[in-house]
Amino acid sequence: MKRDLLSLIYNPDPFWPHPLTVEPTGFKNKALGAFHVNLAIGCSHGCRFCYVPSVSAIKQAKKLRKLGVTQPMFGWGSYLFPRLWNEHAFRLSLRKAMETPDSKLLPDGNRAVFYCSTTDAFQVSRHWNPKVKQLHQGQMDLLFRRSLELIRDESDLRVRILTRSPLSANYFDLMKTLGDRLLFGMSIPSLDDEVVRLYEPHAPGVQKRLECLQKAKQEGLHVYVAVAPTFPEQGIGDFRKILTVINSLDPVTVFHEPVNVRGGNVDLMEGEFRPKGIDFHGDIFRSPKNWAVYAARALKEFELAAHEVGLAEVLKLWPDTALLTEESMDAVVESGLFADHLEMANWITRQWEIPSAWPDVADLVGQTNDSHEGRCGDV
Ligand code: SF4
Repeated sequence: MKRDLLSLIYNPDPFWPHPLTVEPTGFKNKALGAFHVNLAIGCSHGCRFCYVPSVSAIKQAKKLRKLGVTQPMFGWGSYLFPRLWNEHAFRLSLRKAMETPDSKLLPDGNRAVFYCSTTDAFQVSRHWNPKVKQLHQGQMDLLFRRSLELIRDESDLRVRILTRSPLSANYFDLMKTLGDRLLFGMSIPSLDDEVVRLYEPHAPGVQKRLECLQKAKQEGLHVYVAVAPTFPEQGIGDFRKILTVINSLDPVTVFHEPVNVRGGNVDLMEGEFRPKGIDFHGDIFRSPKNWAVYAARALKEFELAAHEVGLAEVLKLWPDTALLTEESMDAVVESGLFADHLEMANWITRQWEIPSAWPDVADLVGQTNDSHEGRCGDV
């Protein structure tokens, strides 16, 4: 049935017109997973450094327009379209994922399914219409619960969850049924709520995230932390502070990266900060050389702080490939952070090659869910 323009604007379809599926992921050198599931198009957290709106939402511009979104980039954070649930389609994609040989997967992916790479699995829809909002929440709940149950019951794949939302705590009981096959992590870039709020205006506060992570640990989940991305406002003192707190959680892995320049994320930051009279660090983000020095310094300082705090063993840095251009390397070497290009290139390659850990398969025996004992041994 055809709908008129007004009806489209005021009553757009609440869901993305495609079902949820498990797909191979392309996150090279990040050790986050071999597959991903993205429950929705859009993300209510609306982080200003996020590259997703330019990389994927722009590609979806035509479909988004049909759903009433005319500014996918600058409206980032204001729209959310949970995918459809089609059990048959999900099962087919899960089977395909299971049958994918290791040789075709990222070697550092741990045969894990990553929730989520282009949205957050746990978020509050910001739709103006309470009815649509309710539909969104119900659909996100269904998508997460049912997909995780199917991965648990019908595959031997592992699961890595990364979120900024304490709403994830509502699902800890379900997560626990996957035993050692599941890692739960939170993105916590700093303990300084004021700084984080600038860049992540609609995401939950950092204290709440930390409490959620502590709860996950207390409940017996294996936890990790992505101190990412960190911001130009931060320095080694800030890194020491957050790493000291994280250390008490005995994390499986600590990931770190600074803000990288990708897609239109600098425009997004400028658009948010400039009208408020806040420095968006254009001197850093608009200059490839300055960005390279900022990024290399943040990574090196983070590495040093992790050594000091006793977390070096579980540290996994994510240096961006843009650091390996001649221009970047010239600037970084000139700043004195590395002796020469070779030293810098070797250091970056070493970081990429560090695998991220997974809890020992043997530990699974006798844990939470008898019916899944030993499944990791098949991986
Ligand atoms: S939570 Fe992730 S996907 Fe969502 S806006 Fe922030 S960075 Fe982007």
